[in-house]
Amino acid sequence: MKSLLKEDLYAKIFHSALLAIAVTDKQGNFMAVNPAWCKSLGWTETEAKTLNIKDITLVEEQPIINQELNKIAQGKVSSLRKEQRYKRKDGTMFWADLYSSALFDDKEKVIGILDIFVDIDTQVISEKVHGELFQSLEILNKELSNANIGLKRQAKYDSLTGLYNRWVMEEMLNKEINRSLETKRGFAVGIADIDDFKKVNDNYGHDCGDFVLVKLTQSFLQKIRVTDSVCRWGGEEFLFLFPETIEQGATIVVERIRKSIEELNIDYKGNLIKVTITIGVSFYNGQDHLDAKELVNRADKALYKGKSSGKNKVVFS
Ligand code: GH3
Ligand code: MG
Ligand code: MG
Repeated sequence: MKSLLKEDLYAKIFHSALLAIAVTDKQGNFMAVNPAWCKSLGWTETEAKTLNIKDITLVEEQPIINQELNKIAQGKVSSLRKEQRYKRKDGTMFWADLYSSALFDDKEKVIGILDIFVDIDTQVISEKVHGELFQSLEILNKELSNANIGLKRQAKYDSLTGLYNRWVMEEMLNKEINRSLETKRGFAVGIADIDDFKKVNDNYGHDCGDFVLVKLTQSFLQKIRVTDSVCRWGGEEFLFLFPETIEQGATIVVERIRKSIEELNIDYKGNLIKVTITIGVSFYNGQDHLDAKELVNRADKALYKGKSSGKNKVVFS
C-alpha cells in the first residue's frame, strides 16, 4: 500500500469499490462515476457524464434534493447521510443508503460534491459491504483529509451526538489494551443502554428519542473525567473507557453517571421526560491476552444481567 502513489490509491479505491461513488459539480452535473455506480444505475460512464442528478431522481423529490445540493454547495452543511430513491436507466427504482459530502479545494472552497451509496433495495447489506463502507470512509478520511473536511467528520463522529463512533472507540480500546500491557495498570470499560427507550419513541416520537440521546450525551460529558472517553456504540448504547481505573474508582464514576441520568429532567416541548440507564462494566487487568471485542462482550453480559434483574443499575462482570 505504502508504495502506491496517492493518486493510484484513490483510483484503485474508486474503481474497485463495491460502493457506488460519484462526483458532481455544484449544479449536480456528473463529472466522474465508478463502475459500481454504473452497475447500480445502468448508465455507462460516458452517458453518466451527460447526466445531472435530476436525471436519476424522482420528480417529486427534486426540490428537496436541490435544496440539499445547494446547502452543501454553499458550505452550509458539509455532509449528509440519508436513504434516497434513485431511478435506473430502465426507469426502475431502488433505495440507496447515501453519504454526500462537499469536496473542497485547498482554500476550503467547495468545488463539487462526493456521493457514495450502497444499494439497499436489492440486497441485504452484508457485513462485507458494510465493512467496506466504513473502511473506505476511513481511508478516504485519512487520505483526502485536506480536500474533504466533511467526510473526515463523518467517518469519526456520530452525526446525532457528535461523539466518536464505535470504530474509533474500538481502535482506542485496542490501544488502551496495549498501553495497559506495558504499564501493567488496568482499566475499565462500561456499556450503557437506555432502559425502555422504545417507550420514549412510542409515546413522544422519534425526534423526542433523538433529543433524549443528545441530552444524555451532554450529561455524560459533564460527568466523566477528562481522561475518560465515551462514544455512541449503537442506537441507544454508549461505551465508556475509563483508563487507569480499577474496581473502586470505576464503582464511583459509573454509579455517578447512572445516578445523574436518573436525576436528569429532560424538557421536550413542555413534556417532562425521565429515563434511566443500565451499565455493564468489565475490567482489563493489564495482563491477559484479549481484544477489545472480548472486553466489550464481558461488559455486555453484565449489562444483560442488569437488564434482566430490574434495570437502572450498574453490574460488574
Ligand atoms: P431495554 O430496557 O431492554 O433496553 O428496552 P429498550 O426499549 O430500550 O430496548 P430495545 O432494544 O427494545 O429498543 C431500543 C430502541 O431504541 C428501539 C429503537 O427504535 C431505539 N433507537 C435506536 N437508535 C435510535 C435513534 O437514533 N433515535 C431514536 N429516536 N431511537 C433510537
Ligand atoms: Mg439496546
Ligand atoms: Mg435499551
